Amino acid sequence: LGHRLPDTVRADFPILAQHPGAYLDNAATAHKPRAVLDAITGYYTTTNSNVGRGYHELGRRSTDVFEQAREAVRAALGARHADEVVFTAGTTDSVNAVADGLGRRLLGPGDAVLVSGMEHNSNLLPWRRLAEETDARLLVAPVDEHGRVDVAGFADLLGPRVRLVAVSHVSNVLGTVNPVAELIAAAHRHGALVVVDGAQAVPHRPVDVRALDADFYCFSAHKVYGPMGVGVLYGKRELLAELRPPRVGGGTVKGVSATEPVRYVPVPARLEAGTPNVAGAVGLAAALAYVDGLGWDAVRDHDQHLVRYAVRRLSERPGVRVIGAPERTPSGIVSFVVDGIHPYDVGGHLDERGIAVRCGVHCASTFLDSLGLVGTVRASFAVYTTPSDVDALVAALDSVRPGFWTTEHPTTRFL
Ligand code: PMP
Repeated sequence: LGHRLPDTVRADFPILAQHPGAYLDNAATAHKPRAVLDAITGYYTTTNSNVGRGYHELGRRSTDVFEQAREAVRAALGARHADEVVFTAGTTDSVNAVADGLGRRLLGPGDAVLVSGMEHNSNLLPWRRLAEETDARLLVAPVDEHGRVDVAGFADLLGPRVRLVAVSHVSNVLGTVNPVAELIAAAHRHGALVVVDGAQAVPHRPVDVRALDADFYCFSAHKVYGPMGVGVLYGKRELLAELRPPRVGGGTVKGVSATEPVRYVPVPARLEAGTPNVAGAVGLAAALAYVDGLGWDAVRDHDQHLVRYAVRRLSERPGVRVIGAPERTPSGIVSFVVDGIHPYDVGGHLDERGIAVRCGVHCASTFLDSLGLVGTVRASFAVYTTPSDVDALVAALDSVRPGFWTTEHPTTRFL
């Protein structure tokens, strides 16, 4: 079933007809199906009005569709309550909201935040800045030879001073899946709260925040076929209630007088100051419904088939080395290097042949440094990616030659 998925879905994505090349940069952002584009246009065409102020019919309808979108996200994440879903601008925004809103309260001199050695800058820099500004320590958990966070090494770093843990569910560099449920359980045994960066997980696997027991879970709509500029911060109800709003302003207060203390409304509205991205939330709900309609079994089968095919075809080529073991837990990402040729030169060569990949350090330079790599070439897949897209990539590698960039790197540890 999954093998035929692209044949049935390609017509759903109008951009594919405009760009005949192979788009293998889906981990950066995925294309949008017509259902999402129509939902956004439909919202502005029929419903557009500000939310939370029920003075007139359109305003009430707009509030309804916004809250329906929240409910759709709740259901997709398996969250207990819709008010545990906060709409943000994306993963980066969600992580920053927790770091600023809770981290500053929890951390003091001598405390620690534990991250993993593979984090995207969006799940690293907010914690690094927080640690610097609170005189706390930033601890970094090791990554094992398969490109997953090492559970034992992670557990060794936990202790009474570790208040917060931030870890990605799926690596945006290697496409490997971290044992987040185990990591969360270990962190909880030591009383730490866990923030999961689910940016690369949500497009590829059903997520159940309750089964994981995640305290916070963040993702972006645009990587799961939804629009840019909108994302989600899931948080357990009692923890969201503790969050200092990242911004204050309209829509967050019960009343303001010149003399009395400000009385804020409950979450999630308290954490969504200003006019929210209602069309974005509606588009995200349409995207989640779209993926749900395809069925997770079909998406997973397709993912496995494609990742394994790509790993096999790439590994057959002399001088090409796949990094990590993406075929063990396929998540739509295969990262590789071509011996002696800088990833930028490979990427430029592929671009000239109509093949879009991402090359370089993927916003995770500390991870790439630890692997002893100047970067990788990352091919990332979506439901519309075909084996012939992979064939085009592999064929184009035939003619790649060293170019402008040097591949020299001070260390040489490969996974
Ligand atoms: N975390 C990971 C693992 C990612 O892949 C990305 C997107 N590249 C982000 C965080 C940041 O997401 P956004 O840019 O949508 O905020």
